[in-house]
Amino acid sequence: MSDPSPIITRRVDDGPFTLTVTVTRDKRLRTSARWTLRDDTIAVRVPASLPPRRLDDLIDDVVARVLRQRARARRRNDGDLERRARAINRAYFGGELRWHSIRWVSNMTRRLGSCTTGGATDGDIRISDRIRHWPDYVIDYVIAHELAHRKHPNHSPAFWDYLARYPHVERARGFIEGVAYGQDASPDDLL
Ligand SMILES: [Zn+2]
Repeated sequence: MSDPSPIITRRVDDGPFTLTVTVTRDKRLRTSARWTLRDDTIAVRVPASLPPRRLDDLIDDVVARVLRQRARARRRNDGDLERRARAINRAYFGGELRWHSIRWVSNMTRRLGSCTTGGATDGDIRISDRIRHWPDYVIDYVIAHELAHRKHPNHSPAFWDYLARYPHVERARGFIEGVAYGQDASPDDLL
């Protein structure tokens, strides 16, 4: 039997974004609720028997947590990276990709970039500041790579097909391969 369709229960202002909360009553859940954030939609699944009052409280908690987390990420958003990501999105991906924030971080020792899918940090992209002075075509590749993960979360063949729209993939991967060799890593483990 298929799940019932989610019901849209709320729209929540979140700075420049509007979040939508959907609720699905799921017969397979006994006591605990599950939720995830994806592309500005908070999808909540709750046990079929959850009383309406408790559902309201639960949604209040989830929304508060997501808003807190996202406000924090947006305070750290880096304007230079945001502009670069927008230009790359327009030039190679037809402007179709959406993310929440993009920032430089100093605490990634191994990876060069990451992009979260699902959870309160959905769409938060982090780029290691170790690459700040690398060639532009490599930095743009790392940004394009993380952006492409908004459409294809894993390194599937579809992901690589899609990322091939960025014209310097092979050259940039060659550069990163050199770095990865020094770290005894595979280049695709680093981002
Ligand atoms: Zn990747």
